[in-house]
Amino acid sequence: MTTTDLIIIGAGPGGYRAAEYAAKKGLKVAIFEGAEVGGTCLNVGCIPTKTYVHSTTFEEARERMATVVPQLRAGVEGILSHPNITLVREKAVFVDAHTVNAQPLPSLVGNCEAGAIGERSDGGTKSGQGVGSVSYTAPNIIIATGSATKLIPVEGLDDPRVVDSTGLLQLDTLPKRLCIIGAGVIGMEFASVFHRFGSEVTVIEFLKECLPALDSDIAKRLRKYLEKQGITFKMKTAVQNLHDIDADVILMATGRKPRVQDDFALAGFEYDERKGIAVNENFETTVKGIYAIGDVNGRQMLAHAAEMQAVRAVNHILGEADGIRFDIMPAAIFTEPEAACVGPTDDQLKEQGIPYVCKKAFWRANGKALAMNEGEGLLKLFVSQADDRILGCHAYGAHSADIVQEVSALMCRDTTVGQLRDIVHIHPTLGEILLAAAEA
Ligand SMILES: Cc1cc2nc3c(=O)[nH]c(=O)nc-3n(C[C@H](O)[C@H](O)[C@H](O)COP(=O)(O)OP(=O)(O)OC[C@H]3O[C@@H](n4cnc5c(N)ncnc54)[C@H](O)[C@@H]3O)c2cc1C
Repeated sequence: MTTTDLIIIGAGPGGYRAAEYAAKKGLKVAIFEGAEVGGTCLNVGCIPTKTYVHSTTFEEARERMATVVPQLRAGVEGILSHPNITLVREKAVFVDAHTVNAQPLPSLVGNCEAGAIGERSDGGTKSGQGVGSVSYTAPNIIIATGSATKLIPVEGLDDPRVVDSTGLLQLDTLPKRLCIIGAGVIGMEFASVFHRFGSEVTVIEFLKECLPALDSDIAKRLRKYLEKQGITFKMKTAVQNLHDIDADVILMATGRKPRVQDDFALAGFEYDERKGIAVNENFETTVKGIYAIGDVNGRQMLAHAAEMQAVRAVNHILGEADGIRFDIMPAAIFTEPEAACVGPTDDQLKEQGIPYVCKKAFWRANGKALAMNEGEGLLKLFVSQADDRILGCHAYGAHSADIVQEVSALMCRDTTVGQLRDIVHIHPTLGEILLAAAEA
């Protein structure tokens, strides 16, 4: 049994950021990873999908993914080679609230993830420390086990044409007809990119509108635009039987669920199969000294949220305060054009009875956007009627994520729309769209 300061379970964006930050702060860290370092984000999530978005053809995307992912993985391995960090390449299982043991990971099954993510390229036995022989104890443990594909209970999940996002990224031939079940972030991003590669794409969604976290007006305009480009949307449609679907590949994009394990019960903290691990504002579970960050706590399933939660958890362990604003969490959807948001939607502000003004600006009125041939897009800026503070921003249009990032920074400093109007923006840039909204 080895004693250390901090045990981390999972080396995705939450886990490896926690390890890096804690090690720099002088803590001795043991981090367990049962698959590839980098987690969902680097291996089968953000990075592969964005490599697809930025490739012209399916073949180019496949080739680029095969170089970009290992390159970034090597970068994470570099981070984890810090002298204060021990990387244990096995699955961690709890023995009690302060002890974990190593155990071999079950391998993947079929075309959909089965709880754990992608197999390691080294075949899964790189540890050299002996499977099951590694045991660590520490006063603090951070759980960062991520999430897995959530499937809905429909007939035909065993159909060989059915894949999840990981399975879709493994295809080596472009499907002629791709049917996507679910118009959330993952479904919409794949719809946009596979349509551009030349697949005939149909999206089936139970709800009235796509992208429920996005302002409904923005979401509708984006969907209508993609429809005009040639993607078929069947909204308010419940899929009954996957065998009946006329397509070569069926992507299940019906959400993600926190990856919890049976052995969590041995540690004694509260968790739920559906909602994940219960945590407080410092991401500490109901057992002191055990933290849960990233997708596994089900709060904000985003890579950058996982990273910032890692910093907060380590700060709490060290007794250090920080000013991270978890109430201001920007997000982006990398369709073409992309969409992004921070803060509440128009509908949510109305429901909450908050007096506000909505200021709009269009991509077609921006010089740089037209010069780039990117005239499609709308930005909505929500401003408090009470004190002129910026409450949020939802947009779709080229590089809207970068514009929303600026709004996010302003919101973190409680900026008013008047103060935004006083900020000089470079001409010609897409950033001037924000200025135009502020002046509207
Ligand atoms: C297709 C797709 C696209 C996405 N695109 C974006 C995007 O553009 N932007 C964005 O912000 N987010 C995106 N996400 C979400 C993002 O990937 C996750 O929010 C992020 O990876 C969560 O990080 P994490 O550290 O919590 O967990 P993960 O990245 O899931 O990492 C968890 C790690 O823990 C390991 N693990 C699990 N159990 C154990 C155990 N017992 N012992 C040892 N190791 C274990 C796993 O093998 C895994 O490596 C995307 C997700 C998908 C699926």
